[in-house]
Amino acid sequence: MRAAVVSSIGGGFDVEELVIDVPRGREVLVDVRAVGLCHSDLSFAETDFGTPLPMVLGHEFAGVVAATGPEATGVVVGDHVVGSLVRACGACPECEGGAPYRCTRRSDLLRRPDEPPRLTRADGSPVTAALGTAAFAEQCLVHENQLVRVPRELPFPQAALLGCSTVTGVGAVLNTARAAAGPRAGPARSRCPAARCRSRAAARPAAPPPRRTRNRGSAGTASNRPGCTGVPERPVAS
Ligand SMILES: [Zn+2]
Ligand SMILES: [Zn+2]
Repeated sequence: MRAAVVSSIGGGFDVEELVIDVPRGREVLVDVRAVGLCHSDLSFAETDFGTPLPMVLGHEFAGVVAATGPEATGVVVGDHVVGSLVRACGACPECEGGAPYRCTRRSDLLRRPDEPPRLTRADGSPVTAALGTAAFAEQCLVHENQLVRVPRELPFPQAALLGCSTVTGVGAVLNTARAAAGPRAGPARSRCPAARCRSRAAARPAAPPPRRTRNRGSAGTASNRPGCTGVPERPVAS
């Protein structure tokens, strides 16, 4: 199976032949048909966040289920699916309380250190499946909780964008900016309120100002941060 591998920070992507394991437990093997190049992938490839190298990035993808682990119940072979970097166990108090983005057992969706890695080189050395997805590849192996079944009529390139860029944008508008339906989000057409300033470009937006958060970023910069969903996250081994 071919994959785009990052072997050194800042060294770019090299296409290599890798070995991908068979699905265990609730894992699902997906034939990747489309994957987005998110800016977070570039950040992880160019900045050392501590991810063990070599690694495979790629976290917004769409494809077809090729095989399922013995405990997977959410999808079957042939289903069209969208994958996401967001990991939620579905069973911890945060997940059951309606806040899966604060899941306290996200590592449950990855392989344990005493299990074989999902990805290896031909010599058996491990390759990190960053963010639990590693979709810059012909196939990826992910926990079924990171997949959503989608209609077959949905084209793969458009479906892939649902995995990160769409939810990041929607999350920024609804959860960070808390914009309500109706207000304009673009620049107002009034003059700048500053005394003696005749600029129109400096006019404030009509939408409410973004709520201050931990990240202190505007809604528009959310997609530029690692993790994309406003929750900074270190990529971890699979
Ligand atoms: Zn992303
Ligand atoms: Zn959870």
